[in-house]
Amino acid sequence: MNIGVLALQGDFSEHIQSIRRTGGEASEVRLPRDLAGLNGLIVPGGESTTIGKLAVQYGLIEALHDFGKTRAIWGTCAGAIFLSKDVRRHQPLLGLMDITVQRNAFGRQAESFEIDLDIPALAREGNGRARPFHAVFIRAPIIESVGPGVEVLARLENGSIVAARQGRFLATSFHPELTRDDRVHQYFLGIVGGK
Ligand code: GLN
Repeated sequence: MNIGVLALQGDFSEHIQSIRRTGGEASEVRLPRDLAGLNGLIVPGGESTTIGKLAVQYGLIEALHDFGKTRAIWGTCAGAIFLSKDVRRHQPLLGLMDITVQRNAFGRQAESFEIDLDIPALAREGNGRARPFHAVFIRAPIIESVGPGVEVLARLENGSIVAARQGRFLATSFHPELTRDDRVHQYFLGIVGGK
């Protein structure tokens, strides 16, 4: 499985390491031609406005759109923002996922926190309930609303949506690449493989 990681800005090298730990091949994507031969793509966390501006500059918006017509894409944090169709402000977005996102939803006081999250989709078949996933939130967005084709994968206790899937597209508000728990990466490889 060849997974590209958009390497314009943000924590792309952590994603590359996580994918390699799960047994996939991972490479950096900076230009449209880097997408050739890839089975899936990860858009990392960082700053969504910066990622968006650089993507416009490198001619990646159209190329990523084309890529998303047939292949899986996962966005973490800023990456989830970039995948969304609406953030209620003006910035370059891919608009591939029918989700509305609120940036920096936890405000300044509590910009970062870690929490054990229940993600039922991580349970392996026949393996009962998944153990909680230790989720790292850094100036994180929440997914404010989802369209009809979108499956909610995880919520905080107050109901805020922090992980969602729409077919081959995956969005997480948190950063699985910053932990040694590779289950979300494995889950994404499953999506890439057609699950
Ligand atoms: N606050 C950032 C943004 O709005 C996202 C932060 C992150 O990716 N950790 O783009």
